[in-house]
Amino acid sequence: MNYPQSAYLHIPFCHRRCFYCDFPVVPLGDSARGDHGPGSNSIKSYLDMLFRDISLTPKGFPLATIYIGGGTPSLLSSSQVGNLLDHLRSHFGFQYGAEITLEIDPASFDKVSLEGFLDAGINRLSLGAQSFDDVVLNELGRRHSSRDLLEACDLIQDSFKSGRLFSWSLDLIKNLPCQNLVSWKRQLLKAISISPPHLSIYDLSIEKGTVFAWKMSRGELSLPNHDLSFDISRITSQMLKEAGFARYEISNYALPGHASRHNRVYWSGASWWGFGQGATACPWGKRFSRPRTRDLYKEWLVKQELALKKNSLDSIEKVQAIPFEDLLIVGLRRREGVNIKDLSRVLGWDNNQLKLNINLLKMFWEYPLEKGWIKQNGWRFYLTDPEGMEISNQILVQMLRWCEALNCSSSD
Ligand code: SF4
Repeated sequence: MNYPQSAYLHIPFCHRRCFYCDFPVVPLGDSARGDHGPGSNSIKSYLDMLFRDISLTPKGFPLATIYIGGGTPSLLSSSQVGNLLDHLRSHFGFQYGAEITLEIDPASFDKVSLEGFLDAGINRLSLGAQSFDDVVLNELGRRHSSRDLLEACDLIQDSFKSGRLFSWSLDLIKNLPCQNLVSWKRQLLKAISISPPHLSIYDLSIEKGTVFAWKMSRGELSLPNHDLSFDISRITSQMLKEAGFARYEISNYALPGHASRHNRVYWSGASWWGFGQGATACPWGKRFSRPRTRDLYKEWLVKQELALKKNSLDSIEKVQAIPFEDLLIVGLRRREGVNIKDLSRVLGWDNNQLKLNINLLKMFWEYPLEKGWIKQNGWRFYLTDPEGMEISNQILVQMLRWCEALNCSSSD
């Protein structure tokens, strides 16, 4: 059996909820910490559950990538991170050179805790910077200031230069309220001047139930229009290319050798383990999520433990295979795009069906193909950078209409 070689561990705690965030996180207050003081009991009892969750999983293959995300995992103390990794290592084993990433927020760690994280085995960090502008950070509801961010970058960059840290990513958000080309260029120049080997640049999205959605409904959010948003994306791609970064996925840019190996597992459709409240796992190409609330997660663990005692653990068998459309959506985000022949194996198409269906897809994509926003190379289709990537949503919608048409014809 082909066991997953990657694991995601979810830490659902944050100091406070940011105004744009709809993740299932538990805000513990600005002074919360993992080892003692406010919030520490919640964190400790959650970690106990996480250990139990890991223990329930078949041992399988040693891990090649591990990602501790959240939430704000840097709320944990370095010894808690170390214990978590020890538990994971003793259960699965780690491959030589495994990539072990920790998401980390400015103002939630200092030099000593950073050293502790590295001693515990973390070798890649993903820093939730979001913006270097204090006014913007305040509007986003972030806890950190630009000064905190610059200090965090200095500490991380020192560890990177000394070789203790293999790689790190700086995450920014674009298309923010009142953003213009000049202010965004300033952000990018600042980011480039810090020299992180990896940048993740996400678009702001307005999610239901957030402060931003409420402001939007009252007409209090002035977001960049389509043209400005396109210009912001174009300039991003251009400036980062000039700085030596390759855009290997719609939102991700890396210097040579620094693409995230863990994220590529998600985008390639390979398997991974997922542990923790609300975490999605995808062992053997089948995907399922653990319950999103603490109480339901606790109940789920008890049921799984009982099932394990009776030797009838059923979580894997009852889950759904990843739908073909989902494989296409995540695959098309990558620079190399999707190989329709490879992906369609799950559908059992023969060569004739494959050719007919690809011809149909090319009819749905006639305009973007003509415009050069999508390119074809054999069975592979990929978005061009920046034009295709910037209008990826429209292209994906046309692709989903193709998938719908195929479902219709197969049910006729
Ligand atoms: S720190 Fe991240 S996960 Fe936590 S509330 Fe803010 S955006 Fe959401």
